[in-house]
Amino acid sequence: MADSPRIVGIDLGTTNTLVATVKNRVPRVVPTDKGSLILPSVVARTLKGDLLVGGAAKDQMVTNPKSTVYGAKRLIGRQFDSKVVQELKNYFSYPIVAGKEGEAAVELGGTVYSLPEVSSFVLAQAKVIAEQFLGGPIAEAVISVPAYYNDNQRQAVKEAGKLAGLTVKRIVNEPTAAALAYGFNRGLDQKILVYDLGGGTFDVSVLQVTGNVFEVLATGGDTFLGGVDFDNRIIDYVLESFRKETKIDLSQLPIAMQRIKNAAEAAKIDLTLIPNVVIELPFIDERKGKPIDLRVPLSREQLNALTADLVDRTFAICDEVLTEQGIARSSIDEVILVGGQSRMPLVQQRITQHFGRPPRKGVHPDECVALGAALLGDSLDQIDAVTLLDALSMPIGYALPTGRFRKIVEKNHRIPTTKSFRLPAPSDPSSPFIELEIFQGDSELVVDNEYLGTVKVPAAAAGKRVDFKLDEECLLHVLVEEVQGPREVELATRDTPAVLKKAIAEELAKRTPREEKAAEAKGGLISSLKRMFGG
Ligand code: AMP
Repeated sequence: MADSPRIVGIDLGTTNTLVATVKNRVPRVVPTDKGSLILPSVVARTLKGDLLVGGAAKDQMVTNPKSTVYGAKRLIGRQFDSKVVQELKNYFSYPIVAGKEGEAAVELGGTVYSLPEVSSFVLAQAKVIAEQFLGGPIAEAVISVPAYYNDNQRQAVKEAGKLAGLTVKRIVNEPTAAALAYGFNRGLDQKILVYDLGGGTFDVSVLQVTGNVFEVLATGGDTFLGGVDFDNRIIDYVLESFRKETKIDLSQLPIAMQRIKNAAEAAKIDLTLIPNVVIELPFIDERKGKPIDLRVPLSREQLNALTADLVDRTFAICDEVLTEQGIARSSIDEVILVGGQSRMPLVQQRITQHFGRPPRKGVHPDECVALGAALLGDSLDQIDAVTLLDALSMPIGYALPTGRFRKIVEKNHRIPTTKSFRLPAPSDPSSPFIELEIFQGDSELVVDNEYLGTVKVPAAAAGKRVDFKLDEECLLHVLVEEVQGPREVELATRDTPAVLKKAIAEELAKRTPREEKAAEAKGGLISSLKRMFGG
């Protein structure tokens, strides 16, 4: 066991988790004891109180939805009062509650679990899978996260790793890991675009690969555009076809909808390989005691027509990201595909048209993130280690008394970095403290951004230099100038300030049904979530 790897790379996914290791510099995904390469990122408690993780938890999801946690990746590291969690709450079948520090947490069989705890169960299972396969203990891991994850989310994933008994050597951005899987040790000098279309999100990153230096030049995406939106189009088509034929509206029948949802996704996946399918669901409803079957043929052409605008949108985002950083589309040497939905033939055709070359074959869209994380882990202690120069995906700054956002580190800024500014005087001159509320996000208004925490220092510190230091994992350290030199300060609280809670609640309440509809039409957020998570 002496020469066996002790470090693994883990792709902690929204739906599935993969764990990979490197032997003799070759990475591979570790199979579970059932021979599968994937571990569903699902945690459940049975009625008897047993904790289930992975496939076993997923298998009982339909019968025990209230005690089955899925999609934790969307909640981890978010504040309970944040807009996203308040909206998500309505569409997840299990209870989402406020944790001790105001963070989102979940209730499973009467017990409140933090999201790092939930994710730690999945990571611990991944650890066991690797240990069984490799025949020895694994103590360390590199874990991948979406590039757009903010500081809280990254911290929460690190915490999850720790709870799972792993030393998290590095948090790595998923597109960077994918680029590593493609370019590690190949002596390349290329500009690559990582096109990641997964189940619920679309991410795009452009990297310059020079030898083993991986530099992120630009990053962007849409956190509510993914495979589930493609499924939704099929679901709508099936419902409409059935309604035309039978005058029956199945959309209000939860079990029928669940069956249609599963069949729509299966049809979509089949249409990647074959040109025509028939969606057949016997006994979908009954009329006058007689069973009614559903039978809807669907061709690849029809699917393409139903989803062309979704695919177009991914390219509009690619162009935005390139333009923002002044990168010419023609300068992209290779396009790397990540995420299951990128397997769709229409996506691949459009990539060929848009970038003038087909996507790179030979990089597995489901495995490359875990493989890249494992390669990074393996290279950390080596002399010819890789150099990752990442970019900040969302600005970091602090709240001004007006509720506006003062950016300190701009989007796409190279990290690691340190940015300095002078501490403003307290907004209330009689206050003995300065309270600097730190946020991360793209909006000019703090209410739309994610709250990271508050720096609380004596009022006498006004005018002193503050450093926002972002390390290679994109984690924020706040240092305040003192006589002896800069001192790192702990964030005084991570609980959302009361005024912000109130402002968010007001914002949500203010949303008129019309705005809700407009938001629906734009991103289909609510319906996507409903269908993605069976709400
Ligand atoms: P991921 O988040 O990367 O696991 O991607 C999952 C998404 O990819 C789901 O929406 C799947 O339906 C979709 N998907 C998986 N395989 C295929 C395929 N062969 N063709 C089209 N979509 C697929």
